[in-house]
Amino acid sequence: MNKLLQDDLKNLELLLESIKIQGIDYLNELNDRYTSCNLVVKPTDKLTETGLGGLETLNLFNEKFEPLMVASSGPRYWGFVTGGSTPASIMGDMLATFYDQNTQALKGQGDISASIENETIQLLLDLFGLPTDFLGGFVTGATMSNFTCLGVGRQWIGRQLGKDYAKEGLSGAIKILSAVPHSSVVKSLSMLGIGSNNFDKVNVLKGNREAIDIEDLETRIKALNGQPFILIANAGTVNTVDFDDFKAIAQLKAKYNFWLHIDAAFGGFAACSPKYRSLLSGWEVADSITIDCHKWLNVPYESAFFLIKETHRVLQSETYQNSNAPYLGDPLTNFNYLNFLPENSRRLKALPAWFTLNAYGKNGYSDIVENSVELAKQFGTYIQNSSNFELLAPVRLNNVCFTLKGEEQQGSVSKFLQLLNETGKVFMTPTVYQGKNGIRAAFVNWRTSKQDIELVIKEMEGLFI
Ligand SMILES: *Cc1c(COP(=O)(O)O)cnc(C)c1O
Repeated sequence: MNKLLQDDLKNLELLLESIKIQGIDYLNELNDRYTSCNLVVKPTDKLTETGLGGLETLNLFNEKFEPLMVASSGPRYWGFVTGGSTPASIMGDMLATFYDQNTQALKGQGDISASIENETIQLLLDLFGLPTDFLGGFVTGATMSNFTCLGVGRQWIGRQLGKDYAKEGLSGAIKILSAVPHSSVVKSLSMLGIGSNNFDKVNVLKGNREAIDIEDLETRIKALNGQPFILIANAGTVNTVDFDDFKAIAQLKAKYNFWLHIDAAFGGFAACSPKYRSLLSGWEVADSITIDCHKWLNVPYESAFFLIKETHRVLQSETYQNSNAPYLGDPLTNFNYLNFLPENSRRLKALPAWFTLNAYGKNGYSDIVENSVELAKQFGTYIQNSSNFELLAPVRLNNVCFTLKGEEQQGSVSKFLQLLNETGKVFMTPTVYQGKNGIRAAFVNWRTSKQDIELVIKEMEGLFI
């Protein structure tokens, strides 16, 4: 064995103890650590001949990169929709690394990790109040989840038209409708060979809404004359957290032949609280659903899952079948994740979610969701009453979309955001909504408190003195 590997093996306890202490220190100072950092490091292009060993490598990391690590899992990182990590999810994530399993077959091929994944999906279905006729799996993020679901939707269209697109490739026959698709959905269309330009924009409802205008949708459906299509609906748009009317869509689904995909990356978590659950009424008729775990479930990146109706199991295995490996058996009788989603080798992705679900239960998640929404509303009220800012949309759930007050301030929005982020006390992201430059603050982190809102308001006010 290589000498350095031998030494590290001997010192395993010391090495892991060092990173454990460092990790705990980081978590304990999350409240005070800066939320942004402008410094950059010049990348090295030379690998050492002999290697440094684990401990020296940790020292190198600590010199070079550690000081630049921002508090992105802390309470005032409000950019994108970045969740934190619950204590139990970190436990699961670290164990997933230690155990280093390859999560594939459900039974008979070595390890238990696929059963853990399957059980975690059942727990999630229960958390979201969804029926058990979905088949789910873990992928890296909502992007891959959307991709996975739309891949089977594409196969479904092929089936309607007597084609097997997974085998034969596309022939320009895919029809997509959507109102405000997330950028990652459009990216999926490109990756799937459907083409990112190849969707028709359905109108949204009037009056500061991002939800599908059902009447316009039905007109467009009728114009298709029975041609099968995929409807990509939203449970929580990123700017204003608007929800499509799933009950109305369910009624259309009973009348017309289409695949319903719901991007519920973070909005799906409304189902965890009795207060907000009705936003999702009717979503169980979906053919496929995307939900992110590294957002509101508060597990470490990278974690998301997809749900696809079990009735589509054949289509799903046609799409993702690892068909050149006959030793893996018939995908329908011998369940193996590698025949049901894009990746083959996969770590024990479900374990952080399994840990946090069991640790905090349904009440834990309704508390997290309700707390986030309450804080968003509190911050929204501040914006609404401020002489410096204005809301770009009502605070519907957990995002606050706002801008500087007054048309004449439009040119100053990005400079303001830059100065605000440079305080290092908070991080928000820019957006454009209805042609206006805006700022988005997303509340999903379990640690965020009233005190954080007050602290950020003080920083924002400070920039006007
Ligand atoms: C975040 C998000 C995505 C993309 O998710 P990743 O986890 O970044 O891949 C897709 N759709 C919606 C609505 C999102 O909020």
